[in-house]
Amino acid sequence: MNPLIRKALNGPYQLSRGEIRELLSLNDTEELFHAAYEVKLRHTGKGVSLRGLIELGNYCGKDCYYCGIRKSNYKVGRYRLSEDDVVRMAHWAYEQEYGSIVLQSGELESEENTAFIERILRRIHTFAGENLGVTLCLGEQSEEVYRRWLEAGAHRYLLRIETSSSELYTKLHPANHSFVRRKECLHTLKRIGYQTGSGVMCGLPGQTLDDLANDILFFHEMDLDMIGMGPYLPHRDTPLGKGIELTPEYKESQLKLGLKMIAVTRLYLHDVNIASTTALQALDDRGREQGLLAGANVIMPNITDTEYRRNYQLYENKPCLDENSAQCRNCLRWRVLSVGEEINWGKRGDPPHFRKGFSK
Ligand code: SF4
Repeated sequence: MNPLIRKALNGPYQLSRGEIRELLSLNDTEELFHAAYEVKLRHTGKGVSLRGLIELGNYCGKDCYYCGIRKSNYKVGRYRLSEDDVVRMAHWAYEQEYGSIVLQSGELESEENTAFIERILRRIHTFAGENLGVTLCLGEQSEEVYRRWLEAGAHRYLLRIETSSSELYTKLHPANHSFVRRKECLHTLKRIGYQTGSGVMCGLPGQTLDDLANDILFFHEMDLDMIGMGPYLPHRDTPLGKGIELTPEYKESQLKLGLKMIAVTRLYLHDVNIASTTALQALDDRGREQGLLAGANVIMPNITDTEYRRNYQLYENKPCLDENSAQCRNCLRWRVLSVGEEINWGKRGDPPHFRKGFSK
């Protein structure tokens, strides 16, 4: 066995930056993925947790250079779900025993938006109580807003840093987007009691393996409970994606890198929740299943009504745009079974890392 993999199997946080980098550069990944899957089994068991994803709306106050719904992309038809629609979708997920949902939208900082989310959370809590995990993915907000949403019934917050390199972050965002504030938001979320998640894009233009190794160390430094990573996928209507060809070679290398990041993150952190993201499936029809076998334990099926999905494309060729939620549920079941795993129906699937911290 590769001695670095053996070392990583002994316990979390065993590897140096150079060793993480070395694992990320492996060409033959069989042993790496197998070991990461073993660690996943050890900490989260044989099972996949679901997060029913509701895309509330695609208005966004920000202009990230890689994102298809950035505010300067005038080609996107903008929408916002009604409060009743969101609650109906959440109720469907609850009845279908998804165990958890994610409420996601572009980043909006306003009292109107804060109160809208707060009302939705309270209504969800009336029928689901603590039996449905609720993750928010609504960007940077003030501590007061985060606290209001926590008190209204949210449990988790996902705020992707996209890269832990401040230099690379500066290249990917306009000057008024602050890397420092994003990090501070993560600290705040953790401090006030959210199960806190973040993640990065892999295979960005200009990104090195050292950057990715630093990203994995950053996850530990921030004491994160959940990781959501995906390969970078270009969108032609964005400054970063313009001109990048999605050739078969490009897709293959992005997929491989995305899977290696899942595996090495699992081998370094051990007890966090790691999502096998839809971006993997955009590169290969079996991408998400491969993510599960490389150490991920969470899948986020889209449960937004299909009429809205086309307008929520952070990257192009997003899969599952036309399948309705019931079709998705069935399809997912078979996909998960096909790799020898099973879905943890009706369970919230809280990250073991958070539960340990809570009982300290
Ligand atoms: S990545 Fe998020 S914050 Fe940036 S433009 Fe897209 S939706 Fe808005």
